[in-house]
Amino acid sequence: MTELLFRDDAYLRSCNARVIDADARGIRLDRTVFYPMGGGQPGDTGVLRLVAGTTIAIVDTVKGTLPDEVIHVPAPGAALPEPGAELVAEIDWDRRHRLMRMHTCLHLLCNVVPGAVTGGQVADGRGRLDFDVPGSSLDREAIASQLNALIAEGHPAGPRWITDAELEATPDLVRTMSVKPPRGTGRVRLMEIAGVDLQPCGGTHVRNTAEIGPVAVTKIESKGKQNRRVILAFAE
Ligand SMILES: [Zn+2]
Repeated sequence: MTELLFRDDAYLRSCNARVIDADARGIRLDRTVFYPMGGGQPGDTGVLRLVAGTTIAIVDTVKGTLPDEVIHVPAPGAALPEPGAELVAEIDWDRRHRLMRMHTCLHLLCNVVPGAVTGGQVADGRGRLDFDVPGSSLDREAIASQLNALIAEGHPAGPRWITDAELEATPDLVRTMSVKPPRGTGRVRLMEIAGVDLQPCGGTHVRNTAEIGPVAVTKIESKGKQNRRVILAFAE
């Protein structure tokens, strides 16, 4: 079991950790700041700096088969560390911060475009969501200006854990969500942008929408009869 430090603080760039084990798939640590690919957000890259002095480049991070299992994928040919080895795990913060900004921006896009989200992907410097919007055409410029207004307004954003029971007791909360939360695990992690968006999400986000910076709608594509793909990029 790995302690997932990014879950409570997405701004942590590094942490001390100990190697649990390492094999052909990758390296498992007792705690980590590396986000594993999931929820449309790519896995982190970075380095593991062993106390012994060597450095291992991490080119990807993925989930394992167990819950909360995180696998740090080393560069091809890297020498694997011994179990018990102590190290500092450090992410490529500049890349992660761009991913956090775009990921948070996609939450805003959910608010701006009506219709159910049918897919999505965050990439470095760009992102996209697919919407089920029967019979409507989407206006690129209007979406961009609404998005940039929400960004400039500086809405606070952050995780909010609620229990299944609280969710049941607060039906109004559910109506404001664009995704139905998973039930049955006891508690649900929600991502809240105050007054704008609330939905279950396990990814990493910025603290305030102003941190996203200006964005552009680069393209709107038709993906089937009802599906529209809205593609965003940072404007600067
Ligand atoms: Zn999210």
